[in-house]
Amino acid sequence: MKSDGWKLAEVILKAVNDKDIAKGDGNYYPRTSAIGRCPRDATMHAYDEPWSDPPESMWGQQLRFDMGHDAEVRVIDAMEIAGITVCCQQMTVEIETPMGLKVTGHMDGVIVIPHDMPHGGKWYVMDVKSAGPYMYRKIYDEQESKGNITNRQQISIYAESVINDEKFPDLNGNKVSDLLFEGYEYGGGMLAYIAIDRPTKGYGPKKVDYPKLHLCQFEIESFDVEMYLDKFDDVQIHLDENTLPGIPHSSDEAIWGGIRCSPRWCRRYSVCQSITEPQSKKLREVLDGV
Ligand code: SF4
Repeated sequence: MKSDGWKLAEVILKAVNDKDIAKGDGNYYPRTSAIGRCPRDATMHAYDEPWSDPPESMWGQQLRFDMGHDAEVRVIDAMEIAGITVCCQQMTVEIETPMGLKVTGHMDGVIVIPHDMPHGGKWYVMDVKSAGPYMYRKIYDEQESKGNITNRQQISIYAESVINDEKFPDLNGNKVSDLLFEGYEYGGGMLAYIAIDRPTKGYGPKKVDYPKLHLCQFEIESFDVEMYLDKFDDVQIHLDENTLPGIPHSSDEAIWGGIRCSPRWCRRYSVCQSITEPQSKKLREVLDGV
């Protein structure tokens, strides 16, 4: 028999989850933060297919998202306490794909690191990521910058984008990587990972703690960005040709080596796997080859 405390938690989780489900993922549009999406899921979304596998309330998906957002604000505060300047926060930027689609992004910011600090004397396009234990273990390395590839692609696109934000009228029309910070060189991208849980390695007496925060710097190459942007064009090509991308190979990073293909992580799993019928007329026609 479940306790009243358990039941009360369920009431709260259900309320926040219902709100999340009612919101869904909105209308499809190309946005930089979606660069890591599965192309099949993105295309079904673009065909207005609603979620076939909404999140279960016990997972607290929206709460986890909000906790990540709060943690990101705290990291920026911590950087400023340490004497690092964080500017251009939540700046809206845009870039065109090779096919001419507009891709919109909202950068976490630019960090300007004082000369006497590691990575100092340079400024970087920065994004903060809150990481669960699995991701943190993957990116953490004392000796090497091992930022996640999708996260690096996202920052690289921001760096090559043009500013279009009424909050930053003096900067509008400039490419982000062309910004000037007197006395500081452009240093590329910087990922700041904050571990949501206590980050550790090993078990029992051999357990060691990792630092709560891990920063990964990386170079940005403009010609790579064009290749990343192809992903948005690929979705558009499928829409234009009334087709749907196949299921990516199990080793593909877009489906996390296969882990993503489950109702736990994919909101359109049942439609993708033909377990349920699509609700979107357009998607039905595409799948029926009409
Ligand atoms: S089940 Fe896998 S392949 Fe299908 S849409 Fe979801 S993530 Fe993509």
